[in-house]
Amino acid sequence: MESFINHEVQNQLKSNNIPLSSQFTIMYWIVIHKLKDGICLQEEYEFLMDLLLSHIMGPVFSIRLQAQYLSSRIFEANEISVNKLDNSQYAYMIKVINGTLQEIAKADDKSFKRLKNDYFIGEFDIIEDLIPCEIYWGLPQLVAALSNNIIEDDFLRNILNEIESNLNLDENDKFHNEWKEKRRKTSDALQFKARNKTINKEVESLEETGTIQKKYVPWKNMSDVDVYDNETKSNKTELIVVASLIAKLPNLGGMARTSEVFGVRAYVVDSLRHLQDKQFQGLSVSAERWVPVEEVRPAQLKDYLTMKKSAGYSVVAAEQTSTSIKLQNFKFPNKTLLLLGNEKEGVPCDLLPLMDHCVEIPQQGVIRSLNVHVTAAIFIWEYARQNML
Ligand code: SAH
Repeated sequence: MESFINHEVQNQLKSNNIPLSSQFTIMYWIVIHKLKDGICLQEEYEFLMDLLLSHIMGPVFSIRLQAQYLSSRIFEANEISVNKLDNSQYAYMIKVINGTLQEIAKADDKSFKRLKNDYFIGEFDIIEDLIPCEIYWGLPQLVAALSNNIIEDDFLRNILNEIESNLNLDENDKFHNEWKEKRRKTSDALQFKARNKTINKEVESLEETGTIQKKYVPWKNMSDVDVYDNETKSNKTELIVVASLIAKLPNLGGMARTSEVFGVRAYVVDSLRHLQDKQFQGLSVSAERWVPVEEVRPAQLKDYLTMKKSAGYSVVAAEQTSTSIKLQNFKFPNKTLLLLGNEKEGVPCDLLPLMDHCVEIPQQGVIRSLNVHVTAAIFIWEYARQNML
């Protein structure tokens, strides 16, 4: 049997003319039916699972939620399919997703409730509803295309009957048989029409709240996943960035982001509590999940620096002092610990004797110093340029 995911379908998906949420729903229904009938191909199942899973951590909350929910349902449908396909590669991910979905349900999340009650996901059936009433009345109603037109039952009944008698397809045609067997009856269709009125209202209220939120991302539940370790080991530098003296959360968050981007080995802050702060997160854009973050209080800095020195690190302060080397003349040792100074006080005098080097960025203007995150970014970039790029 040929996979329904042929070139044409794939091109359609890629061309992006179809909104993602519709793509998900269409493919979901096709695969659900195929699983139910035990005729789904492994490659079809995997194509949809991979598509959905590639969106479970995306930036748009509603798409992410839909991808999480549908991938979980597809996985479940395969579990009970008469012809169960191999799904071992998805088992762990689905466990994580189910954990996240439970959290969402517990929080009584409105968007999740709406998604579960969504007509196209909960009730619509891509085969049963392939009837004139649905095509000419139901769907246009749902998308509010016909809001001012009232279609009489008799009119619908006539269309249904006409199609019934005119439909003279080959009896061996697979589509024809499936359609005959599964579509709703005319009487059901008319009942359905009445019910559609209420659904229509729900859809409208859903449209009003196109939420874009930043919560319920499954990787919170993935702390024991081994990708983290593998990835960090392979592309980390030997640079440690110490921000324990920094007070302002936007600076701390921004430095976390820069550290992550350049593969810093460890990012050190005075308290791990900062990671939960909105201001921090606003600038870090989740970097703290990917860069190893350590906590060292300012009072412990002396001991920490001494320990790192004995582990082979050169301790470098970014600071303007009378003996500072200019950044453009400085060659960063591979194992470097970079210390940034406090926004107001700079690097305290009692730490300066511990430094192997003080390095400064030469300035020309009137203002005394650079912003500390800007400084860190220039230093980290220069380290990366010399040592890894
Ligand atoms: N000591 C500064 C204030 C500190 S600025 C003053 O009295 O004005 C905060 C931190 O940013 C400094 O401690 C240093 O780590 C870093 N910094 C700012 N400008 C710098 C520069 N031109 N060269 C090196 N580091 C700089």
